[in-house]
Amino acid sequence: MNGVWIFGDYRNYFQNRVTLQLIAKGRELAETLATEVTVVILGEEVHQYAMEYIAHGADVVMAAEHPDLKYYQLETYTTLIARWVEAFKPDIFLAGATSFGREFFPRLAKRLGTGLSADCVSLEVDPEKGFLLQTTPACGGELLAEVVTPHHRPQMATVHPGVFQEIPHDSTAVGRILYPEIEVQPEQRVKILRSQRQQVRRNNLEEAQVVIVGGLGLGSKEHFRLLFELAELLEGEVGATRPAVLAGWADEEMLLGQTGKAVKPRLLISIGTSGALQYTTAIHGAETIIAINRDPHAPIFKMADLGLVGDCTTILPLLLETVRRRIRRERMDD
Ligand SMILES: Cc1cc2nc3c(=O)[nH]c(=O)nc-3n(C[C@H](O)[C@H](O)[C@H](O)COP(=O)(O)OP(=O)(O)OC[C@H]3O[C@@H](n4cnc5c(N)ncnc54)[C@H](O)[C@@H]3O)c2cc1C
Repeated sequence: MNGVWIFGDYRNYFQNRVTLQLIAKGRELAETLATEVTVVILGEEVHQYAMEYIAHGADVVMAAEHPDLKYYQLETYTTLIARWVEAFKPDIFLAGATSFGREFFPRLAKRLGTGLSADCVSLEVDPEKGFLLQTTPACGGELLAEVVTPHHRPQMATVHPGVFQEIPHDSTAVGRILYPEIEVQPEQRVKILRSQRQQVRRNNLEEAQVVIVGGLGLGSKEHFRLLFELAELLEGEVGATRPAVLAGWADEEMLLGQTGKAVKPRLLISIGTSGALQYTTAIHGAETIIAINRDPHAPIFKMADLGLVGDCTTILPLLLETVRRRIRRERMDD
């Protein structure tokens, strides 16, 4: 079969557009290589998504339906898709750099003995050799590296949501949906008992005029919670660094940085963050930055307009109290 393959991540379909964006990019690549775009998709009932992928530009959808595929299971999915890749030998295989793609694709690449470029910002075909040119940030985002995979197949890459534009839905589009025979042997090291969608607090970080960001220096979820109070008083939003998200203090959608959102508020208060490049890349658009860190040499102070050196768990409650008092006074003056 060869061709360009896209992994069909249909969870939360209406918000998660990355598969559709990859189909659009896949079309461009496939046209240059005179081949087809195939979306591979696993699940319990996936026909409706297969139709959607055709309507958004896929030539072929290869689908596996089975009750044991209802929930994403890393090992089962890897085994099944690796078998398909070995049988059909795609030239290129792309997935979204979502939490899902980041877990699944490295494992699949290792299983297939090929390379993988993570978080690509551009994908093109080398006009001479026909290799996939995979451009990805390197050295903490300072450089863009161009990666090629000359000796192994498929050429695999993950791409962030929002990098490419999806093709609008066309209900007249025609494609083929294939259901290859599959043998599902769930690998039982992890047994999923049930799945429940996490309640996520929607935020408006990209448009917020005030952003309060918490980092690992806050030390605990209890301290991190104080940021929400401060943000509410200042009519702002809360952002977080990657370690704060990994610690479970903040939702993924609050993540700022190379792998998260970028902000451009009038005021940004960065609390207990060291100022790593992968984070600061997202806050360059802020008009005024105030940083709180107990280490006077923390890199965040290099870009802050105002720096407070001290323990944020002491400063934050004082700051909250001061802001509350100020607001009360302003209300009384009115
Ligand atoms: C490919 C790649 C992509 C990445 N993408 C992102 C990204 O998108 N976003 C992101 O945020 N990170 C990202 N990272 C991680 C990034 O490199 C840093 O590790 C991260 O930003 C650091 O987060 P932090 O500042 O919260 O934690 P730390 O670097 O651990 O800093 C904590 C700071 O808190 C201070 N501190 C400690 N205790 C206190 C206290 N009581 N009071 C005051 N200050 C205190 C310390 O002095 C320190 O400076 C990425 C890394 C890689 C390799």
